[in-house]
Amino acid sequence: MNKRQPMPLQDKEKRKNNFNEVALGYDLNHVQIEAKRCLNCKDPKCVNACPVNVNIPQFIQAIVNKHFEEAYQLIYKDNILPSICGRVCPQENQCEGACILGIKSEPVSIGALERFLGDYALSNECLTCETIEDNHQKVAVIGSGPAGLSFSAAIRRMGYTTDVFEALHDYGGVLRYGIPEFRLPKAIVNQEINRLKSLGIQFHKNIIVGKTITIDQLMEEYHYQAIFVATGAGLPRALNIPGENLNGVFFANEYLTRVNLMKAYEFPNQPTPIKIGETVCVIGGGNVAMDAARVAKRLGSKEVFILYRRDMHSLPARREEIDHAIEEGIDFRLLLNPVEFIGEDYQVKQIRAEVMMLGEKDASGRRRPLPTGKFKSFNVDSVVVAIGQSPNPILKKTTKNLKVDGRGRIQVNGCQTSIPGVFAGGDIVTGAATVIEAMGAGKCAAIEIDTYIKNAN
Ligand code: FAD
Ligand code: SF4
Repeated sequence: MNKRQPMPLQDKEKRKNNFNEVALGYDLNHVQIEAKRCLNCKDPKCVNACPVNVNIPQFIQAIVNKHFEEAYQLIYKDNILPSICGRVCPQENQCEGACILGIKSEPVSIGALERFLGDYALSNECLTCETIEDNHQKVAVIGSGPAGLSFSAAIRRMGYTTDVFEALHDYGGVLRYGIPEFRLPKAIVNQEINRLKSLGIQFHKNIIVGKTITIDQLMEEYHYQAIFVATGAGLPRALNIPGENLNGVFFANEYLTRVNLMKAYEFPNQPTPIKIGETVCVIGGGNVAMDAARVAKRLGSKEVFILYRRDMHSLPARREEIDHAIEEGIDFRLLLNPVEFIGEDYQVKQIRAEVMMLGEKDASGRRRPLPTGKFKSFNVDSVVVAIGQSPNPILKKTTKNLKVDGRGRIQVNGCQTSIPGVFAGGDIVTGAATVIEAMGAGKCAAIEIDTYIKNAN
């Protein structure tokens, strides 16, 4: 049996200085070798482990037979964003984590094959036209992240007039404003969204539902028969320690939005710079923290370090992202919990952190960090706080009877909220999760809304 084909990468010394994509994708040769590793299992565990149940062995066999367009169609019917998922899904915890080959050897590189097909379809303009018969019923979607996009495609294919309302000036949610260019080129996001537009989905930007217009108005004045709320979890979580509002302390969402959506990384070609200085500390250990640190390196900071309160083993980020961050010279300062930001003239200058030690396992299965009473200080020019996101409370505040839990997540039964005709899915329901889980929720909601509208008629 051949070994798993490694993903070709941009040179680590060069990539520290540019925002070009790091993972370069398989060529035809890699694709054929990798596809032939699949055992075409009778009971393929990979399929159930995929939140949208793509028929993985079937598309891989089509690759083996060099029927790339057919292979692509087999994915696309269940996953409308293969080029994106192939790049950003945590496959090691999903399809690849369940692949039978992984027991004794290395799993099939399902994500890399998916990415190849997605890109093949985009560059060969494979069958982007679908014939859809309108049923003259209309639904509204709030938010254009992966949950909203996946829902829109599924419901539009059933014939519904589909209007997507997005608060920002561009579409894609975290795919657009959060995940940096070097992991997910925005040209790919644009192409995937254009494909959805070609299905007849209508996109409306700069509309904050709850402010520009309310859910009640959408239903009562604009007569949408159902609404899918997919507003994500974009509200940053704060450390709530002294000095957090000093200049130079950013929340990861704001910082990444300024770099990605506002294109600070293209300054001076774009008029929107971001000043972060020579020494940058990123607080947190997830994918968002890795993205923030790797962005800082590329913006020219000399010293970029991650401050995390547990050990290396407990970092929640994807292994691949951690490895890439290490290769790019990001320093990990572990078992440290920030307690204060110290500034001069309102500008952050130093972080004081308590040294931690690990105790017994907590509910997350990781060993709990415990204070030691010892402290360390680090000089910094700026800090990025990346310790998690919560749902924005605007919809709850402006929508009567919308039930949320103590953490602001919309409560649902299936996808049905406490308001008849209003459904929800993605991060707004689960809290910060993954692209493919949000897409899975969008697909389920489309089926529920179709049933709801048919029963109401
Ligand atoms: P979002 O993607 O957050 O989209 C919500 C959309 O709703 C946004 O466009 C927002 O502007 C809009 N909106 C919000 N409120 C309103 C309103 N009132 N009116 C109108 N529009 C509104 N997951 C992975 O699987 N792999 C990764 O590598 C990965 N990396 C990540 C990196 C970062 C920096 C971040 C922040 C997250 C990452 N995630 C990753 C998580 C993943 O992106 C999310 O789980 C996913 O995007 C959730 O999709 P969603 O559609 O629920 O919400
Ligand atoms: Fe192929 Fe692995 Fe899925 Fe089996 S579990 S069908 S080997 S990808």
